[in-house]
Amino acid sequence: MDFMIRIWISLVALSFAAPLSAQEGPDDGVNADMILALKGLQLLDHRLNAIGYRLVDANTPYCDQKAARTGLLLNDVAQYVDQETARFALGFDGSVGITAVAPDSPAESAKLSPGDTLLAINTIPINDIAIDDPELSNQQPVYRRVAAINRLLEQALAEDNVRLTISRGGINQTISVAAAMTCPSQFQIRVSADRSAGADGKLVSVSSRLAEYFLTDDEFAAVVAHELAHNLLKHRDRLDAKNVNRGFFGQFGESASEIKAAEIEADRLSVWLMVNAGYDPQAAIRFWTRYGKEHGKGIFSASTHYRWKKRVELFEEELAKMAAMEPVGGKFSPPLLAKAD
Ligand SMILES: [Zn+2]
Repeated sequence: MDFMIRIWISLVALSFAAPLSAQEGPDDGVNADMILALKGLQLLDHRLNAIGYRLVDANTPYCDQKAARTGLLLNDVAQYVDQETARFALGFDGSVGITAVAPDSPAESAKLSPGDTLLAINTIPINDIAIDDPELSNQQPVYRRVAAINRLLEQALAEDNVRLTISRGGINQTISVAAAMTCPSQFQIRVSADRSAGADGKLVSVSSRLAEYFLTDDEFAAVVAHELAHNLLKHRDRLDAKNVNRGFFGQFGESASEIKAAEIEADRLSVWLMVNAGYDPQAAIRFWTRYGKEHGKGIFSASTHYRWKKRVELFEEELAKMAAMEPVGGKFSPPLLAKAD
């Protein structure tokens, strides 16, 4: 997936954009512009991680499959071209560490913090975790270690609490963290100059350019909820099983109608996921109206998509269904998830 190249694109672009006179710290020898860019990226990652965690956690009762989650977001400095600057900006002592901790997550309860360097999971040192597993071969090499760590962490958390050995300010400590069983999906910002978002069945990615466009977290949540809905409804598997071509030729004929049906389902489910997580569903209407007016002749004119006015009608239909229902524990059981399996 293209999110794997996230940092590479931006840092290559940034290295051209940075003026030659860019300030260098007298002591650390790192590039101030690059640090600012990395901090901006970390903030977007933090927002996406927080929104994604809140959505999967709040909707747990309606997901048939659940995943062991801590709310942590990990980064490997190997992902960055300028590793020394990345280590400095992210506050790591080593190569892999925590870049975001979701609010109200087990990781926050355990007092884990951005900047903590991860050294070991239970007794397994990070450097001993195999990254040559064939299951990871679809990932670019620089992302395999974090993917392998996330997988090991999820497996270990499904058994019991996990002891993470971290380095904080050069001092090693071991912190026990529990798992929350939530709806599945992970979340990541993909550095890109295009405004896009995607769902591959396991991961929701939002491009940095699109993430910068959101006015509020509610708008951000509208797009994340749409992509999460694709994952929860297993659209990728369903379209693959029907041999639907999702590429360019998917815009024509039979494939187009299958894809369009999936898009309509994702839009319908998205506002239920938002409401259950306490986000303002009107933000979906505001966002798609604003975005639609600005980008009306873009990708939404393809036959697999439909115009923003139609999307707004779908959101309003779903909000009317919820308004006519009695919430249970302040939440609404989404009909699309009830019949998903
Ligand atoms: Zn979609």
